[in-house]
Amino acid sequence: MIEDKNPQRTSLSELGEFGLINHLTKHFSLNNSSTIKGVGDDAAVLAATDKQTLVTTDLLIEGVHFDLSYMPLKHLGYKAVMVNLSDVYAMNGTAEQITVSIAISNRFPLEAIEELYAGIKLACDTYKIDLIGGDTTSSTKGMLISVTAIGSAKEEDVVYRIGAQETDLIVVSGDLGAAYLGLQVLEREKQVFQVDPNNQPDLDAYTYLIERQLKPEARKDVKGILEELEVQPTSMIDISDGLSSEIMHICSQSKVGCKLYEDKIPLDPQVISACEEFNIDSTMVALSGGEDYELLFTVPIADFDKIKGNPNFSIIGHITAEDQGLNLVTRANQEIALKAQGWNALKQE
Ligand code: ADP
Ligand code: MG
Repeated sequence: MIEDKNPQRTSLSELGEFGLINHLTKHFSLNNSSTIKGVGDDAAVLAATDKQTLVTTDLLIEGVHFDLSYMPLKHLGYKAVMVNLSDVYAMNGTAEQITVSIAISNRFPLEAIEELYAGIKLACDTYKIDLIGGDTTSSTKGMLISVTAIGSAKEEDVVYRIGAQETDLIVVSGDLGAAYLGLQVLEREKQVFQVDPNNQPDLDAYTYLIERQLKPEARKDVKGILEELEVQPTSMIDISDGLSSEIMHICSQSKVGCKLYEDKIPLDPQVISACEEFNIDSTMVALSGGEDYELLFTVPIADFDKIKGNPNFSIIGHITAEDQGLNLVTRANQEIALKAQGWNALKQE
């Protein structure tokens, strides 16, 4: 599906490691006063402040976490940054710096790595993040990319997974399930393409789904929206593995149970129609799909009026006592254990 639109192929060995790093990073500028020294010395230097420091890292491996036959490298670079920023935002923090480490085989020309870094730069510019370092090495096969994000938050602002209390409301930003369905559409088109490379797919009906898969946005805005509403979440997590698995983390760490309402789970119309087409249950997709990078959090029930009706948020349930377990109230008003819906049911691994 992805054609080689850039016929130019410059071998990485022509530049050498130092030349490559310089070439890739020279257009990045520094946006944050906490960055004293970025790329170019033995270590980056950050200013110490009176805030707490947040650090998170993710490792992405070709063939395991991404497939370059439908993931353009620019999108991969962007997404690799997003998944890390999302973790900083899930602590109710502000992301400020990233490091990027890559291992690449000689099958990639310079132009491919430039695309990867174009995506990383777009993410840095959009989210006001400084690229402050990394490492570059060769791999015998495939590509590996690891991003570390560094952020900060005032001690009293940091939100952990552990603070959910009985009667708290369970809230989610945005909508769920689209990224998983985007992947299903791309996988299907890949199969079609392998059979008939001249087939030009019409993907108009799936634009939102594909965008959510290939170009996710981390919810940087949620912290500010909650501040404006004067709401401090009691617990928070980002949705990388699906609603079920994330609410399970909050409940097990907070030692509480939960009740989710199927009819409250926010779904985009494209999710609903694609689920009909693929003949899968939309609730299952929202519960187990993953890669939505929305934020899931709990707030005191007293904040109901502040959250209710806010277009950014959906109240999808509430926290219960631990011995009540984790339950989903279906549209037919049946209560079933969330586990029975099968988290990871969609995952092949
Ligand atoms: P060293 O050998 O001391 O580890 P390197 O030559 O690997 O130094 O790196 C030189 C500088 O370039 C350092 O600031 C390092 O953080 C940065 N750097 C190396 N690889 C990357 C990369 N892939 N992306 C961004 N910065 C990088
Ligand atoms: Mg190094």
